[in-house]
Amino acid sequence: MSAEPVITAIDPHGDGSTHCWCCDTIDVPSHMVHLGNHPEVHLCLRCAHFVHQQAWEIEDEGKRGPAAFARDRFRNLRAEVVRRGWNQSRFIGGKLRWLGKYLP
Ligand SMILES: [Zn+2]
Repeated sequence: MSAEPVITAIDPHGDGSTHCWCCDTIDVPSHMVHLGNHPEVHLCLRCAHFVHQQAWEIEDEGKRGPAAFARDRFRNLRAEVVRRGWNQSRFIGGKLRWLGKYLP
């Protein structure tokens, strides 16, 4: 039985940068989120926010009340905006993406 550590976080560029495990974005580890028991896992901030939103959505399943209802409506609105591609619009896309950071 070998006790040697398995190296999974490799610096392919030699400049201290690493890849996001979700979307493959390259950034320095200090600008990425690390998992507690698996520090070799790096998530870029964008993917970390996405994971947070997914966790919030799972927690809201089965909840009732005005706050859960409002969050669900905002999620549906966000999905519709993305489906229509408005978040990529040259005129309002930037504002919608900025607003999306502050909505559930
Ligand atoms: Zn990512």
